[in-house]
Amino acid sequence: MADFKTHTLVATVISGGLSVAALATGLATPADAFCYWLAGTLGGLLPDIDSDESLALRIVFRLFGALVAASLAIYWVTTLPVWQVMALAGAGYLLVRFVLLWLFAKITVHRGMLHSLLANVLFGAIGVLLAYHLFALDVRQAWGIGGFVFMGATVHLLLDEIYSVDLSGMRIKRSFGSALKITDWQQPGLSALMLMLCVGCLWLSPQAPFLEPRLGLDLPQWLTLNTVVDWLRQVLA
Ligand SMILES: [Zn+2]
Repeated sequence: MADFKTHTLVATVISGGLSVAALATGLATPADAFCYWLAGTLGGLLPDIDSDESLALRIVFRLFGALVAASLAIYWVTTLPVWQVMALAGAGYLLVRFVLLWLFAKITVHRGMLHSLLANVLFGAIGVLLAYHLFALDVRQAWGIGGFVFMGATVHLLLDEIYSVDLSGMRIKRSFGSALKITDWQQPGLSALMLMLCVGCLWLSPQAPFLEPRLGLDLPQWLTLNTVVDWLRQVLA
């Protein structure tokens, strides 16, 4: 498998190139393009958060901890005294950074469920939700963030798969096929749960009427993303 440095470098370069392209074609403002670049780079680290010793795991939980701390502080800042807000934010950070990380490391297996395309869809969908509901970005920006997270994470899987081919001896290592997979078929229950989480996130995400014409897709009406999302909303409502 590719190491942390390679993953970060490749994700940074590819998402950098794509966000510049989005900027050049008028799909993104400079601020959007910068956020997309960060989202794609972060996406490139996500599949390895199931490796208990990985730097990716610690980075992601530090960011998540900071996000929780900031959200708690913003929510309580007008109602509580400053020292209580700070204590609350600190406690939130520590809880995520240590307790949640410990729990997460205990229940995940490296190259299991979270190292798959289905997990990437979930990462992207969570990106859309956070961008839209927490950071109050508009619909287009939120889907852009989600798209870049998905893209970064998928580049990660591809890179791991490329690394499993030993180019010098043209041998294929045993890890071939374990990196780029739709889901972990050994765990049907968990896969179903993850699929449900994806559907739930899609249901909660804002509609993206701009997406299909932008992508130049000429799909029949029943197959468009918005029709599918509408249908899911009706089924789940
Ligand atoms: Zn990996």
